[in-house]
Amino acid sequence: MTKYDYDLFVIGAGSGGVRASRIAASHGAKVAVAEEYRVGGTCVIRGCVPKKLFVYASQFSEEFEDAEGFGWTVGETRFSWAKLIANKDKEIDRLNGIYIRNLERSGVAIIQSRAILKDAHTVHLVGEGRDVTADKILIATGATPFLPHDVKGIEHAITSNEAFHLEELPDHIIVVGGGYIAVEFTGIFNGLGVKTALLYRADRILRGFDEDLRVGLMDEMRKKGVDLRTHAHITEIERKGGKLHVTLKDGTVIETGAVHYATGRKPNSRGLGLEEIGVSIRKNDAIEVDAYSQTSVPNIYAVGDVTDRAALTPIAIREGQAFAETVFNNNPIAVDHSVIPTAVFSQPELGTVGLTEHEAREKFGEIDIYKTSFRPMKHTMTGREEKTFMKLVVDQKSERVLGVHLMGPSSGEIIQAVGIAVTMGATKKQFDQTVAVHPSAAEELVTLKEKWAPPVQKAAD
Ligand SMILES: Cc1cc2nc3c(=O)[nH]c(=O)nc-3n(C[C@H](O)[C@H](O)[C@H](O)COP(=O)(O)OP(=O)(O)OC[C@H]3O[C@@H](n4cnc5c(N)ncnc54)[C@H](O)[C@@H]3O)c2cc1C
Repeated sequence: MTKYDYDLFVIGAGSGGVRASRIAASHGAKVAVAEEYRVGGTCVIRGCVPKKLFVYASQFSEEFEDAEGFGWTVGETRFSWAKLIANKDKEIDRLNGIYIRNLERSGVAIIQSRAILKDAHTVHLVGEGRDVTADKILIATGATPFLPHDVKGIEHAITSNEAFHLEELPDHIIVVGGGYIAVEFTGIFNGLGVKTALLYRADRILRGFDEDLRVGLMDEMRKKGVDLRTHAHITEIERKGGKLHVTLKDGTVIETGAVHYATGRKPNSRGLGLEEIGVSIRKNDAIEVDAYSQTSVPNIYAVGDVTDRAALTPIAIREGQAFAETVFNNNPIAVDHSVIPTAVFSQPELGTVGLTEHEAREKFGEIDIYKTSFRPMKHTMTGREEKTFMKLVVDQKSERVLGVHLMGPSSGEIIQAVGIAVTMGATKKQFDQTVAVHPSAAEELVTLKEKWAPPVQKAAD
């Protein structure tokens, strides 16, 4: 018998915390998880899931237009934001219920409260005013949207947290940021008929992605009517009547209905009592962990966004699972973060896995690039000037495909399957040996023949 109340106490019932709790319990551990908001965490409650539902909603406007080219006459269409929100909330409630039931079925005690640490084995439950003890503690508290403090009137801005519950859709919105959340919400608002401006401080959106995708997506977003401005810095947001007046550094003033900041997320590590007991935290608030998610205090572990290794749900889940296997099943697993297939649910969608052209050149020197840009078959009938783009980055020496970068419909779905090949170290020859699926866009991936002759790409800011 352990001398503690629990073998494992998990703080945060999001993607990482829930997986870790259930796996640890399945190996016989006595587990409790504390959640201060809603079980399911960011992804389910106010992240991936509601975001994707909004993306679906926003795509209908183009679908209605495109239908005409195929002989359809679409009557008058109307959109109800209130109905979308209500239906989305219903679905989120359903998922929240499933997460709760799964934890309960696994024998995990759910404690609805904020939890902070008193010492390395004592957790204080703020909502209940009591303490519990545990042998091992897992911090899975995720991250929070970050608002810059140097913008006057920043209190008028919203983040993705509020965007999921806006009472009304504004006529005009400014989205600030260049990361995937900014880009996705820009597509959502624009597709729902809101006049949308995307303001970003540097040259190109989506830093860290392949340059062709960055440039290609900016072009396509502009074609769809997004007012995309780079080198744009907001200095002040003022409320005037029912509107917001947004002043930029160059003196431009934009009148808008809402300002949505998506300028990054900060790990939730402060105010938990971690520094006081010696857990090392980096400058960016990420908890420092080793390959097994162990912090500088040996019985305390951390997984997911709070460690800022790769802020994605499947990674948080893997880290949670690996932690539970390592600590409660004597089966040490270190998560490999080197190849991560991922999608951006922008419009058009992006899918990417492995190294960008720039990274591959730096790491491998001699590389071959294969790329193609074409009008997808569907748009030969709709007249829409949208391009699909595909690119393979190949190591010249080993012929291994180091990276695949896609822009176009279903890129997220395609990249999941291509991710298997890239993870397995497939070569260009093996891609070529694969029989094409016809007619599809993805067949280009196995039929690309001509090497792209450089100009060599430099990564922009
Ligand atoms: C708008 C948006 C869209 C996204 N889209 C995608 C996507 O398409 N694909 C993808 O892979 N990822 C996406 N993400 C990222 C994904 O949501 C996160 O990577 C993932 O949720 C991280 O899981 P986690 O377990 O680390 O933390 P979270 O899921 O954030 O869970 C942390 C939980 O801890 C709770 N908590 C915090 N502090 C305490 C405390 N002291 N006591 C008790 N409870 C506490 C929080 O309330 C929260 O429920 C998106 C994120 C956002 C914001």
